[in-house]
Amino acid sequence: MKKRILLLAGGQSGEHEVSLMSARSVLGALPRERFDVTPVVISKQGRWLPPTETTRALETGKSAPGGDLVLHRAASAEGYDAVFPLLHGPMGEDGTIQGLLTLAGIPFVGSGVLGSSVSMDKVMTKQVLAAVGIPQVAWQLALRRDWQTNPQGVKDEAVKLGFPFFVKPANLGSSVGISKVHGAEEMEKAFELAFSLDRRVIVEAMTSHKPREVEVGILGNDAPIASPVGELSFDADFYDYETKYTEGVAQMHIPARIPREAAENIRELALKAFKALDCAGLARVDFFYVAETGEVLLNEVNTMPGFTTTSMYPKLFEAAGLSYGELVARLVELALEKR
Ligand code: ATP
Ligand code: MG
Ligand code: MG
Ligand code: MG
Repeated sequence: MKKRILLLAGGQSGEHEVSLMSARSVLGALPRERFDVTPVVISKQGRWLPPTETTRALETGKSAPGGDLVLHRAASAEGYDAVFPLLHGPMGEDGTIQGLLTLAGIPFVGSGVLGSSVSMDKVMTKQVLAAVGIPQVAWQLALRRDWQTNPQGVKDEAVKLGFPFFVKPANLGSSVGISKVHGAEEMEKAFELAFSLDRRVIVEAMTSHKPREVEVGILGNDAPIASPVGELSFDADFYDYETKYTEGVAQMHIPARIPREAAENIRELALKAFKALDCAGLARVDFFYVAETGEVLLNEVNTMPGFTTTSMYPKLFEAAGLSYGELVARLVELALEKR
């Protein structure tokens, strides 16, 4: 029997376009003899687009306004074996869609409400992972209200971390809204930008040296496995949006060019983080490796990582012997096995 899959893409976050790219890859790569896939693109306004508009959005990479209310379509989603919510960022990767699907009783790929929401919020993630002893950079939380009522206070706190530091919306991805602050004169703009995108902002100390960016894929539910460690290299101040999505700017190295013990440590820490956050299905756990000191610091956990055929997560499992099509099939199986 073919599995009927509802593939959700797009969504209301700043990562709408990234999600459309991932969904195009999944659609193109899923073995037709095993899967019957219906894509539904969610517009930036949160409306679920009907088939013709969905096809147009996937083809052009842009979606028109219109469509149905989310709840209406979810209620009629009975008949699907599983939903693949290939959505990044708020209203997709943060537990909201996961809650809707849980209420509707439809199995879905990836983490549930708890794992999704805690992993989406960089502050909550850091708090939970600190509790299980996972090494991370020093950080602070700032609320939009603090910034509106006492901006100097927010700045005074932040400089205690030392320059440069990072200012990030707590709930976003693809480096959207992230600034590396090199000096006092850059603070205003960085906080304005981050607070324009989120009520909660995290201020992070930079690693002691420019870090090596290493990532691990995790696959499974309560007995997850870790992929080999991969590395991204690029010629930029940090891994910003342009560096991530301009073709040919970043290079992927699998396995990562780091000592074997560091890689083993990273894989163990990634599994520990996945379990501590109650993740399920898949996650890409990102680390900083500081070659000068040998430090390994966890950066973040992405519960719905980029999923084009050239994205890191599928490439890591390809290196472990699982093709893109097999990986998606495994994710659907894991969705059906949950609970
Ligand atoms: P993703 O697209 O992976 O979800 P994101 O938007 O959640 O990314 P981060 O991974 O938190 O953003 O940060 C983006 C990049 O900024 C990192 O890959 C790294 O290059 C740089 N960076 C962020 N925080 C730090 C830090 N504390 N020290 C050094 N570099 C950092
Ligand atoms: Mg992220
Ligand atoms: Mg992300
Ligand atoms: Mg990241």
